Amino acid sequence: MTLTEKLLARASGKASVQAGDNIWVNADVLMTHDVCGPGTIGVFKREFGKTAKVWDKQKIVIIPDHYIFTADSKSNRNVDILRDFANEQGLPYFYDVIDDPKGHWVFDAVKGNMKKQYGSRYAGVCHAALPAKGHTRPGEVLFGTDSHTCMAGAFNQFATGIGNTDAGFVMGTGKLLIKVPETMRFRLEGKLQPGVMAKDIILHCIGEIGFDGATYRAMQFDGEGAKTLSMDDRMTIANMAIEAGGKNGIFEFDSRTAEYVDARVKLNGTKANYTPVEADKNQKFVSELIVDLSQLEPTVACHPDPGQRKKAKEMNQKLDRAYVGSCTGGKTSDFIEFARILRGKKVVIDTFGVPATPEIIRDLQTTYWGNETIWDVMVNAGVQMTENAGCAACLGGPVDTFGRINKSGINCISATNRNFPGRMGDKESKVFLASPATVAASALTGKVTDPREFVGK
Ligand code: SF4
Repeated sequence: MTLTEKLLARASGKASVQAGDNIWVNADVLMTHDVCGPGTIGVFKREFGKTAKVWDKQKIVIIPDHYIFTADSKSNRNVDILRDFANEQGLPYFYDVIDDPKGHWVFDAVKGNMKKQYGSRYAGVCHAALPAKGHTRPGEVLFGTDSHTCMAGAFNQFATGIGNTDAGFVMGTGKLLIKVPETMRFRLEGKLQPGVMAKDIILHCIGEIGFDGATYRAMQFDGEGAKTLSMDDRMTIANMAIEAGGKNGIFEFDSRTAEYVDARVKLNGTKANYTPVEADKNQKFVSELIVDLSQLEPTVACHPDPGQRKKAKEMNQKLDRAYVGSCTGGKTSDFIEFARILRGKKVVIDTFGVPATPEIIRDLQTTYWGNETIWDVMVNAGVQMTENAGCAACLGGPVDTFGRINKSGINCISATNRNFPGRMGDKESKVFLASPATVAASALTGKVTDPREFVGK
């Protein structure tokens, strides 16, 4: 069995499963957020009754993160609906925007977008917050009401996005009917060269198979090259399995996985025991692609979908805007590579930076390079850095969302994960997906630029 088959066999209590089997799977964690949480709660109450209790309150994680820093009253109200539900059910893992359990969330537009407006429990973007808060464990099953839930496959778990109806059902029963996906293998070999990042690996892979090339399939990333990747790198890659239509992305378990997970469950006092899955010797794959990491170059996914692959060095695309952020591209390591290229220089186009979590902001504001923090390096280069960690303009959002594209015809290079028309706001704008290093180099020149022109200079 492949990693995904082994995980699903275990979660369904069977000795073995194969692609195409329909099986009932037990969930270890159900995650929802402010966009889908109210709908999920509505389905749960409608189907299980107004006074029903969730199947296991230790296994439900609610993370408001999407439409948070906006004066839009309906968006603010969604956070209040989540708080009411968490109070009613006694849920321990609700990462509220505010500290008052009886309060109401109202974004203060007068204070503006740049300075933080959240309380001590706020966790930021759900997919970055889940591992940081100790909710991702190898060998487990995670369902989330968000397509990029697949990011947690980096931790050797079966993680996939589901709709509100399915999530309402999981909330009541802890189970879900799943068809076992076929597995596509991506065997990574070699090591990335300077200036090339994990984002380039996944953009390369999606470019090979197309944005629907892994539809309802597991994307398994393994091989010696995978072992060289940090957990942040693996998260970037697993996150974008859905951008090829994948059911899930998955990595093998190793000492890096253990180190990260053990530290996080200890820090947060979450469940500490887990059993990873190991690949069998005779795995059956529907396809196999060998990727030599040492041969990869900075890569861009052009408008209008994540499969439109080009090499940065071969492009001459003029840009109006640059954006670094999201679950995919807003991690500490992403900002480090972004800042490394910007250091001592000035951006020439509007450039926005949105860290994924408050913890990442702390990292950036307390780590010094000489006399400057990494945060200062970016601000001094002209980047508009917000302390309001969250999804922000990654998916457009209400019109007052920080970094949202509100003007027609804008060309934006972005370290986010999705670029279908209208994704970051205006439908006539174009989004070019790239690594944080490529975004930085491009922000310095105003056109898509290979970051190796700046690496080491
Ligand atoms: S940062 Fe973007 S991709 Fe990630 S969860 Fe938020 S909207 Fe989705």
